[in-house]
Amino acid sequence: MKKKLPLLMPGCEKFQSYRFPKTNQQARWDYPLRMCRWLAEESARRVKDSRRHFRWKFLRGDCHSHTHHSDGIGTVAETAAMVKSAGLDFQFVTDHWGVTQAPECKRHGVWFGQEPVTKLHHMGILGLNHAFAPKMDFLVDVAEAKRLGATVFVPHPTGWWPVTAYNAEQKKILEKLPDPFLMEICNGANNIVTAWDYTDDSAVKLWDHLLSMGRVVHAMGNTDAHAPHAIGIVWNGVFAPRCEQKTILAVLSKGRSFVSNGPLIHIAMGRAQMGERAGESDRRNPLKMTVVDSRGLTRVRVVADGRVVGTWHLEDAAKFERALRIPKSARRYVRVEVRSRDGARGYSNPVYF
Ligand SMILES: [Zn+2]
Ligand SMILES: [Zn+2]
Repeated sequence: MKKKLPLLMPGCEKFQSYRFPKTNQQARWDYPLRMCRWLAEESARRVKDSRRHFRWKFLRGDCHSHTHHSDGIGTVAETAAMVKSAGLDFQFVTDHWGVTQAPECKRHGVWFGQEPVTKLHHMGILGLNHAFAPKMDFLVDVAEAKRLGATVFVPHPTGWWPVTAYNAEQKKILEKLPDPFLMEICNGANNIVTAWDYTDDSAVKLWDHLLSMGRVVHAMGNTDAHAPHAIGIVWNGVFAPRCEQKTILAVLSKGRSFVSNGPLIHIAMGRAQMGERAGESDRRNPLKMTVVDSRGLTRVRVVADGRVVGTWHLEDAAKFERALRIPKSARRYVRVEVRSRDGARGYSNPVYF
């Protein structure tokens, strides 16, 4: 007779999760959230280490997220806890269809906005304390929200991951939007570890297209988190003197910010800094750039009028400083983009010509 061999080492039954469905049920929610919190804490440490090599003061924050006040799965409290882990200075909770989350946001120290759906696009609306009712005409609705004093941004301008791809009409109407305006070049919807995916590549392409037309379009990077897990996977580094909502919105609206999930970027040409226009005397100067990532930089690229005009491949440098003459033939803008060793990315806002 053949001896039956054991399937489990003796005495190990008590370690098998499936034998304890009740505790396992709880862990199935808690453990992934804890893993994401560790990632958020790691990203906070990374930026803290980087700041030692970066002389400009900036605040970090995300302008787009959801809770169960619309179609998100988390609460405002869970969002706020994650914001703390990620070391973000500010977070807007922008639920769809209104601002019923506002009292909870006030209690938990985060800000609120909203994201109604209008014809062709969603609308990111910040700094408005009541529900906005769209008339289902994109250009009219944006103008009305601005008239009410709101800061408006275009979320996921080419669609969102994994399968929503906007059509030509949806992209084309952005050419008619009065500039300057704010537009996401990174949207982390449905992403959980890193925000970057091919929809962001197409958003960056559209951004270059609009900038090459001479439009002033300031970039934003937001998580669009529908689960608290994703808070912190991308953020805006805002060169604002203090963390007060009005100030942050004013500085973002001027494009004095960069988009990142790791690297820090500062660029200037003469007296013109990112988001500003370089006058004739500024253009006599080279573009001065400073890029920092304590976890190691691997590539820095300078883009002018949609063309790459400078590339450096680095071996995990923590800091990169360079001055580059931008060809006179560039007539619209220059911007800088960066990759880090672990794939993290950063995008400066442009200096406009
Ligand atoms: Zn949306
Ligand atoms: Zn959203």
